[in-house]
Amino acid sequence: MNSHQLFRRSRVRLALWYASVMGVILSLSGFGMYRSLVQSNWTALEREIESIAGTLHDSLEPMLPASGDPTPVLQQVFPELCLAEQPCNSNSTLIERHTIGISDRSTYYIRLFDYRGKLLAFSPNQPPSLPNTLNRELWQTFRTADGIRYHQFTTILHSASVHQRFYDSNVHPSWGYLQVGRTLAPFDAENQRILWILMVGFPLALFVVALSSWWLSGLAMKPIYLSYQRQQQFTADAAHELRSPLASLLATVEAVLRVPLSNSQNIYAMLNTVERQGRRLSYLVNDLLLLSNLEQNTFSEQFHLCCLNDLINDLSEEFLELAVAAEIKLFSEVPVDSIYVLGNEQQLYRAVSNLIANAIHYTPSGGCIDITLQSRDRSAVITVKDTGIGIASTELFRIFERFYRVDGDRSRKTGGTGLGLAIVQAIIQAHRGTVTVTSELGKGSQFIVHLPEPK
Ligand code: ADP
Repeated sequence: MNSHQLFRRSRVRLALWYASVMGVILSLSGFGMYRSLVQSNWTALEREIESIAGTLHDSLEPMLPASGDPTPVLQQVFPELCLAEQPCNSNSTLIERHTIGISDRSTYYIRLFDYRGKLLAFSPNQPPSLPNTLNRELWQTFRTADGIRYHQFTTILHSASVHQRFYDSNVHPSWGYLQVGRTLAPFDAENQRILWILMVGFPLALFVVALSSWWLSGLAMKPIYLSYQRQQQFTADAAHELRSPLASLLATVEAVLRVPLSNSQNIYAMLNTVERQGRRLSYLVNDLLLLSNLEQNTFSEQFHLCCLNDLINDLSEEFLELAVAAEIKLFSEVPVDSIYVLGNEQQLYRAVSNLIANAIHYTPSGGCIDITLQSRDRSAVITVKDTGIGIASTELFRIFERFYRVDGDRSRKTGGTGLGLAIVQAIIQAHRGTVTVTSELGKGSQFIVHLPEPK
């Protein structure tokens, strides 16, 4: 197949299409998977920050002083926190105590602001160079100078007494703000890892896809190539078959033209040959046309109920004379009950007559031919059995091929075109039936046709 330019090009084009479609599907699903993984990690991360902030918020609020300098209280409540504008020498973090069992504790930091946004206290592991002013945005993501990203959550703190007094006087509604944040380094590293896996995995997957596309396109092209080859062979065979009778016909006509008109006996014999060759050509062309029509399935609309009993009886009667002339005994066995099939009577007639004609041609005088019709398992079975020359087992699988003859010369002499069995098979297949053959060299052959009976 690869040696043929057209097929090679089609195969390459098909493989490229397969590979591109698969590549697009792969990249879309890879990208989608990456996005959903990143999104679910991000959601989990925000939920964790929120839950830590909630825990701290709930445990802090009841202890917050309503007014005055909160520093002594903060120092008492959070001894590990660094206080703003004071030296910081804490060695363990408050967050470690409050987030036990929740997550990697060293990754979190907290910051406390008063209601004006002034920084009161912070955990010592907070990102360097973080401004002391408050950004009231609920969620913030920022990158520090060393390239590490942080994500931060801000929540309002109220003290129990401020709540009460807010309604009594014009005291500010909030006590201050709590910020809980964490480094995004592990999150970014995980995303990077997934990206790397995708970047390495994608070309590998694409390579496997390209290989399998090449193989798949080969599979897809194979039946087309075989059919093309068969068609080529058929055209060559048909041309070859037509050439011989045409050449012989032309030679005879040339000879006729050279013979003097007075020699009418010679001319008559030659014209007989012309007629014979012309008829042979006509049969061949008709057979080719019939095969082509059968291939296009143009007959299926003309199907109707056909009585096979009548068909076999008619054929037996028709061939009896030929069999007698060839000194062959011809028997037929048809059941009393009529067997019907849905089909084209003319074609079925042609198929069975081809089998009987072959049986007569390939059975020497003194032989015997049996034609039987039966109904078996909802199908009509026609058997044509002869005691003729038989077919070698090595040839059996080829005899249904177009123009195939077991013994070319002998078959040609009997008037055979080598299309008889191909036509039988095409007709029976068009009727959704099967034709099989068993044969033994020198002992005879048996052709069995199965046709489905209508329900
Ligand atoms: P042809 O027109 O040459 O007979 P067919 O297609 O009918 O071509 O048959 C193909 C070949 O199968 C024949 O050339 C012949 O050798 C073989 N064949 C067909 N029927 C029989 C048979 N009943 N007995 C022996 N050989 C047969």
